[in-house]
Amino acid sequence: MKFHLSLATTLLLATEGLSRRTCGSDHPPVELIEKAILFRAMSKFKPGPNSRPVEEDPVPRTQVVPLHIHNVFVNQTRDQGYITHEDVQNQFKVLNDNFASTGVKFDLKTVTHTEDKAWAMASRGSISEINMKKALRRGGYADLNIYIRPLRSGLLGYCTFPTEVVKDSDKFFLDGCDVLFSSVPGGSATYYDEGKTATHEVGHWFGLFHTFQGGCSGGDFVDDTPAEGSATSGCPLGKDTCRGDMYPGEDPIHNYMDYSYDACMTEFTEGQRVRLYQMWDQYRLPQGSTNRTTTRTSMH
Ligand SMILES: [Zn+2]
Repeated sequence: MKFHLSLATTLLLATEGLSRRTCGSDHPPVELIEKAILFRAMSKFKPGPNSRPVEEDPVPRTQVVPLHIHNVFVNQTRDQGYITHEDVQNQFKVLNDNFASTGVKFDLKTVTHTEDKAWAMASRGSISEINMKKALRRGGYADLNIYIRPLRSGLLGYCTFPTEVVKDSDKFFLDGCDVLFSSVPGGSATYYDEGKTATHEVGHWFGLFHTFQGGCSGGDFVDDTPAEGSATSGCPLGKDTCRGDMYPGEDPIHNYMDYSYDACMTEFTEGQRVRLYQMWDQYRLPQGSTNRTTTRTSMH
């Protein structure tokens, strides 16, 4: 016998019962992993975890990123995907606060609200998803588009990694981040209600991987995020899944690219900041159309 979840039940599952963070961006393309390995070799870091940059940047780099936030909802109530103007502003502020240490500053250019059940509930890779994004996506490849909506699949969010794209191809339109509506600041997603799901997902958009990717012997190819054998749930101080001389440092449970509760996530590392700009210069800057808002104060 087939069992169909009602829309109300599906939305309930999407907002509650998340025992751990669930992100759909857990498989970076092989080409991007190879690029990350190359960038790691090029970084001005001494090898080994917990290393610091050999030389500090003479002038900290900054980057303005045009931001377009699209709220897509089933109907205009808070439990059916709708978020208010204030919610959008709060999410925007959290993004800027969380990325401040990297020099990235988001410039909110567009806010849209769309009532469309099929789009709001579209699963990844569906016709509805591409239709929605062809209709709503704004700007070039250096513009960040975030779709805040019900996701149906039990995910808190997912995001595309940077890659080579042909303008106006499906891959171009799909570029951006999808974030569960209830994860915005003050939302109903317990433990994930401070807006840091968007921060985590946007980290992927910039080309950062999960800190636990590949386990102890894998990693995110960033030298100053200690090796981590498994995704973190909650905020377990002292968690140390990779031990021994090869793996100094406890798990980076406070890193935005782990799976910890929002309240536990507080940092990007210096190595992640450098990687973000390496990826930006490789993929988004050359394919963007936003030179007028680009600020480069130093070279890496
Ligand atoms: Zn993720």
